[in-house]
Amino acid sequence: MKGAKNVGVPGVVIPSKSCDDDNCPFHGTLRVRGMILEGTIVKFRANGTAIFEREYIYYDKKYKRYERRRSRIHVHVPPCLNVKEGDRVIIGETRPIAKSVAFVVLGKAGGQSA
Ligand SMILES: [Zn+2]
Repeated sequence: MKGAKNVGVPGVVIPSKSCDDDNCPFHGTLRVRGMILEGTIVKFRANGTAIFEREYIYYDKKYKRYERRRSRIHVHVPPCLNVKEGDRVIIGETRPIAKSVAFVVLGKAGGQSA
């Protein structure tokens, strides 16, 4: 068992469990760089992948109004994190892990340990 490393994102706590996933930002070689987003886990898929949904406000210039938009992103969930469907989480951008996966779950939003 290796020691966990700090991913360098404010509000992210190092999980109490350990894992031997190479694609884990705490115990593997995966490095987080780029975007940090907050949203909800919608559904789990195979191979430790999940679907993350984010709602944001978009300003429509022509009609001078805001509209709510949502987008879904495929994310990798390391086995040391205990996240369920419906959880609010923080995700970070990484190198591509699979064809459509370039983000990893870092923990629950609001500083709770996952
Ligand atoms: Zn881990």
